[in-house]
Amino acid sequence: MEFSQYNVNSLMYITPRPEIVFTEGSGMWLTDNNGKRYLDYLQGWAVNCLGHSPAVISDALIAQSKKLLNPSPAFYNAPMVELATLLTQNSCFDRVFFTNSGAEANEGAIKLARKWGQLNKNGAFEIITFDHGFHGRTLATMSASGKPGWDKLFAPQVSGFPKADLNDIASVEKLISDKTVAVMLEPIQGEGGVIPANREFMHELRALTKKHGILLIVDEVQSGMGRTGELFAYQLSGITPDIMTLAKGIGGGVPLGALLSTEAVACFVPGDQGGTYNGAPLMTAVGIAVLKELTKPGFLNSVKEKAQYLSDELNKLSEEFGLQGERGEGLLRALKLGSNIGAEIVEVARNMEPVGLLLNSPRPDLLRFMPALNVTKEELDLMLSMLRTVLKQVKNK
Ligand SMILES: *Cc1c(COP(=O)(O)O)cnc(C)c1O
Repeated sequence: MEFSQYNVNSLMYITPRPEIVFTEGSGMWLTDNNGKRYLDYLQGWAVNCLGHSPAVISDALIAQSKKLLNPSPAFYNAPMVELATLLTQNSCFDRVFFTNSGAEANEGAIKLARKWGQLNKNGAFEIITFDHGFHGRTLATMSASGKPGWDKLFAPQVSGFPKADLNDIASVEKLISDKTVAVMLEPIQGEGGVIPANREFMHELRALTKKHGILLIVDEVQSGMGRTGELFAYQLSGITPDIMTLAKGIGGGVPLGALLSTEAVACFVPGDQGGTYNGAPLMTAVGIAVLKELTKPGFLNSVKEKAQYLSDELNKLSEEFGLQGERGEGLLRALKLGSNIGAEIVEVARNMEPVGLLLNSPRPDLLRFMPALNVTKEELDLMLSMLRTVLKQVKNK
């Protein structure tokens, strides 16, 4: 169908979108309304950890949809219990609350920390977050985010989120007072431009929060579920946080998130937290299928190997074109372009013929790569050779 035949103006305008409509996806590939194929390095924004429409997810959806869709959150259901058990067995956490999105998981984390502060810290409620951090688009999670300009958008903000600088422990310590209940961060700032919190900083943060008797919350909505080559990014530094949030990868493409905490922190009582779809079996059945794939022997090792390869090859490209190198953890990586050519590269790559390449530029001078975790070496090589072609065109103008 022609693009002009789609009535796209019936949608609210929230972002500029290219004039194509995606109709099918398989693995690392998407197909649009004209039948053109694209190699996809966005993957639903680091969501499709097993690629587009993997069989394990469609099988789980079909099987569960025939059994039970939603008995209501007032009752247990089997997939909800099984996924919570798998998550606690594979992490340092003891309790799980399921959500429909990352923002909702983070809202839950903020509520849980404030509740814990009421019970244990004399009503302390401030949560120290970070400049350039991103935690979602609800009012509280926008307030917790450190995106430039967001402090004025939809004012007044939810108060109680003083901002520190990532990888600068003194900037955190300076903000701690008797009102502080927690520090919350992304182990790798994703939307901020793929900026990892370094190992030393994670250790310092854990020691500092312990010293002051406050909570450490990791937002692993983007960095969790195998993205870094560990199941969770906090494991890279060997520390154990008090609260973790997940979304994106855990659903492999369907809306599913989770709030996890240690037993000591799981202080909600009936009435504090809930939601109509929380833990609904259709989505948690998918979460089980995803987690089982990621924890198969060798899977995370293969993520590490491919990450090393991608990192090496991006560094070669960087040298070839006089760029500024690359950074990241696992298969969440960024190429530092050294000039504001990100948007142009994204455009030229998408418009390549006969197949396009989908890339993301979270900052004007940066490209972000978030392939499926089961991307093949051939699909990495194809992306790199297409990117080389694009860079030649954009840099030699
Ligand atoms: C995407 C993201 C969120 C928000 O998740 P939604 O599912 O879009 O609400 C929160 N935190 C981080 C780190 C993210 O990358």
